[in-house]
Amino acid sequence: MENPRLFEGDILNGSGNLSYNALANDGGLWPNGRIPYVIDYSLQSLSSMIQSAMQQYHQKTCIRFVPYDGTQRNYVKIFNGQGCYANVGMVGGEQPLSLGQGCHYPGTVVHELGHVVGFYHEHTRSDRDQYIDLYLENVDAQYYPQFEKLQPYDNRLYNKFDYNSVMLYGSKSFSNNGQYTMMSKSGGILNEVHDKGGLSPADVERVQKLYKCSGSSGANGGDFGGQNQIPTTQYPPVPPNWPWGEWAQNESQKDKQSS
Ligand SMILES: [Zn+2]
Repeated sequence: MENPRLFEGDILNGSGNLSYNALANDGGLWPNGRIPYVIDYSLQSLSSMIQSAMQQYHQKTCIRFVPYDGTQRNYVKIFNGQGCYANVGMVGGEQPLSLGQGCHYPGTVVHELGHVVGFYHEHTRSDRDQYIDLYLENVDAQYYPQFEKLQPYDNRLYNKFDYNSVMLYGSKSFSNNGQYTMMSKSGGILNEVHDKGGLSPADVERVQKLYKCSGSSGANGGDFGGQNQIPTTQYPPVPPNWPWGEWAQNESQKDKQSS
């Protein structure tokens, strides 16, 4: 998830307003909470994990990921790119969600989908200093922007800071020396996103408030109709021009250590 040269690590909306924990402008919301998607053939082997991640949203919120049928104007292409990244909210047209090497964890998939739904990172909330301490001495200065705090008037916070949020980075995010860069106020370690199971109860509440839905039905009504069909549309695995970042490298190191 950490592509240091992308906005907040893995967010593509570089020119957007970074001032919101959740999207400030309803224009970035997906109409009726329906998010068309296509899984690129480069990720077919990961399709069941992706489907499971989507099911978390389906079972607990009114968000519905629906297979792209070739007619929707706005949709998400999930593909095997360089690192993990996504746009926040709907940006128009085809928008990428990359799950590259080092991103194939259920928690990471739920996290990236969370950006698509419309959420930024938990550790940039305006009130985060009440809940976490930063140790920027362990971070290269070029990555300080990843830790920039939002201003109170910029926030649309739906509930309390949540240590279990799938949108909260872990304690070693952007570390340049293996030491912790963020800890809870009580000195607790923040779990890495890829070690989380997915949506926390607070995450669920936020999605419901952002989309003004309750439970798993909501305004668009009805249960999820078992949309587990994978589109067969094929896209060339063209790597994006965006640079990839440390996270995949860290994952490689981790893999080495654990093997
Ligand atoms: Zn992220």
